[in-house]
Amino acid sequence: MPTELLFRDNAYLRTASARVVALHQHGIELDRTIFYPMGGGQPGDRGTLIRANGERFAIADTRKGDSIDTVLHLHTSGSPPEPGETLTLEIDWPRRYALMRLHTALHVMSCVVVAPVTGGNIAADKARLDFDIDISLLDAARIEHETNALIARAVETKTVWISDEEMDARPELVKTMSVQPPRGAGRVRLLEIPGIDLQPCGGTHVKNIAEIGAIRVMKIRSEGKRNKRVEIALAV
Ligand SMILES: [Zn+2]
Repeated sequence: MPTELLFRDNAYLRTASARVVALHQHGIELDRTIFYPMGGGQPGDRGTLIRANGERFAIADTRKGDSIDTVLHLHTSGSPPEPGETLTLEIDWPRRYALMRLHTALHVMSCVVVAPVTGGNIAADKARLDFDIDISLLDAARIEHETNALIARAVETKTVWISDEEMDARPELVKTMSVQPPRGAGRVRLLEIPGIDLQPCGGTHVKNIAEIGAIRVMKIRSEGKRNKRVEIALAV
C-alpha cells in the first residue's frame, strides 16, 4: 500500500493524523504522511509522532521504503506504536520551511548559471549545486545579484504533472544529469516557476518565490573536472 503523500499537494501542512500500517526494522509505516522522505537532494523530515495518550516518539529522519511511494518514519527511542493505532504527526516546521526556501532558491539559481547540473544538496542552513562549467565563468556577485533579482519577481510556483511518455519526449526538461526523475508511477511531477524554471522535482517548495527572501553566495569552488560548486545560504 503506497503511503498517501500529503506534502505533495500541500507542503505547508505542519500536523495531520495518520494510522500505523506496519512496523519495519527501520521505521514506522503510516497510511498517510506530512513527513518528506529523503530524496532529490532534500533531506528527510524530522518531527514527532504523538499517541492518543500523549506519548511522543521523536522521528529523527524519514526515508523511502522498499516499494514505490512508501515512507518510513525513523524513530530513535521508546517502544514503537502498534499497527492500527492513530497518531498525530508533527514535523519540525522551522527546519522544513528553511529547506523549502533553500530548495526553491536552487531552482531559481539553476536558471542564472546556464550549465548542466551535475549534483546538488540541501541542508537547513545552506544548499549547493554543482555545474559542469569552466570555473572562471562563475562570478559569485553576479550569481547572487541575478538570483535575487529573479526572486524579487515574487511569482507563484506551480506543480504540474505529465505522463512518463511526455517526459520522454521532452528530455531538455532534465537539467540535473545525476538525478533522473522518479519513474514507475506513470507520471512525473514538475515544479514550474512561471517565466523562470520548469523541471522534474518531487521535493517541497514555497508557494511564492518571494518567501525565499534573498540569498547569499557563500562559496564557489572546484570539486572535480565536471563539478564546480556554488553554495548558497538564505540572507535572512
Ligand atoms: Zn524542487
